Amino acid sequence: MSLFDKFQPIVEIRAELEELGIMPFGAVTEKILSATEAIVNGYKVILAGTNNYLGLTFDPECIAAAKKAVEELGTGTTGSRMANGTFAEHVKLEQELAAYFDRKHSIVFSTGYAATMGMGSTLAGAGDVIVLDADSHASIYDGVRLGGAEVIRFRHNDAADLEKRLRRLGERISNTLIIVEGIYSMLGDQAPLADIAAVKRKYGGILLVDEAHSLGMLGKHGRGVAEAAGVEDDVDFVVGTFSKSLGATGGYCVSSHPELEAIRFAIRSYIFTASPSPSVIASTRVALRLMQERPELRDRLWENAHRLYDGLKQLGFAVSPEVSPVVAVIIKHRDQAIAWWNELMQRGAYVNLVMPPASPTTDSLLRCSVSAAHSSEQIDRIIEAFAALQAPASASDPIT
Ligand code: PMP
Repeated sequence: MSLFDKFQPIVEIRAELEELGIMPFGAVTEKILSATEAIVNGYKVILAGTNNYLGLTFDPECIAAAKKAVEELGTGTTGSRMANGTFAEHVKLEQELAAYFDRKHSIVFSTGYAATMGMGSTLAGAGDVIVLDADSHASIYDGVRLGGAEVIRFRHNDAADLEKRLRRLGERISNTLIIVEGIYSMLGDQAPLADIAAVKRKYGGILLVDEAHSLGMLGKHGRGVAEAAGVEDDVDFVVGTFSKSLGATGGYCVSSHPELEAIRFAIRSYIFTASPSPSVIASTRVALRLMQERPELRDRLWENAHRLYDGLKQLGFAVSPEVSPVVAVIIKHRDQAIAWWNELMQRGAYVNLVMPPASPTTDSLLRCSVSAAHSSEQIDRIIEAFAALQAPASASDPIT
């Protein structure tokens, strides 16, 4: 037995893929041509799996703000928020996020992972209970493991199952944290937040929602699934990321609970890591403003989402259960998914290959995400690349 034995299955899969000349998780973006095009592994491709939902990575205002920040504030903060890493810009972004979400308090983190993982591990600890959706993101699972609370999973998107589990808790509900996502990252399906909030109102508990994939997409102001469902008052903590619709890196948590300011002094993923670089904060601040000023970006995103979803469905592929900017093609056989991922790249569409355990079931996924920056013609080219794959209907059984 050696420490390295556990990596053997990975070594074997890698060797298998290398023999086939396919390295899906080692693809290198050699040149970025625009928010929607790049040279990857030598192929000119349409970027169809970037989470760059509003296409703001090349927005001239965001770029100008980032450049100015580099020139005026340097390339990095070189320290944690608790030490030398709190710049006036971090504080301003926190204020702007709190105002945008109409909450009293806000914390900015260096990544979305640090935000979600940190909140999950800090809010509930030994002796507390966490009830979470079974299909939660790795950052949620990592956080709850680290915190040491008792973890209870409920069936994905099943408010009745959540209710059953909360009912069984009895008095323990008073120190229970419920965690769900807004739009789920792999299949793009939305949490039934109206039902989940109703269950929380009935039984109690503290509700945290990760809106990483729904910011800028849903609700009157783009605040996500909770706003769209009209239940923001029932959500105690919202976490999310700057790495998707805001086109940078970083994360946040907003809340009107004054305790968030105390959590700032207890949350290790905030305290023991360097704060986000000035350029990142600068572009994020502009992106947050543009997201509010340009509702047409959201309209464009949804047009593209419908176009891709309908196109792939019409071809006979098994697609995610509902239309969303995340459009996943569900494939039973891993080898088929790998081969198609490779063929799509050669045909000019770069999508995400997702295999178990990263996918929510034993199926593999060719996960696409659309952007407001995609033209209709680019969406059609992605659909054409899928159309050229062999025998879609037989190998890709409909989801049940
Ligand atoms: N939460 C969810 C639901 C996510 O999908 C992700 C990233 N895919 C994160 C958190 C982490 O965000 P980041 O990549 O910005 O660290």
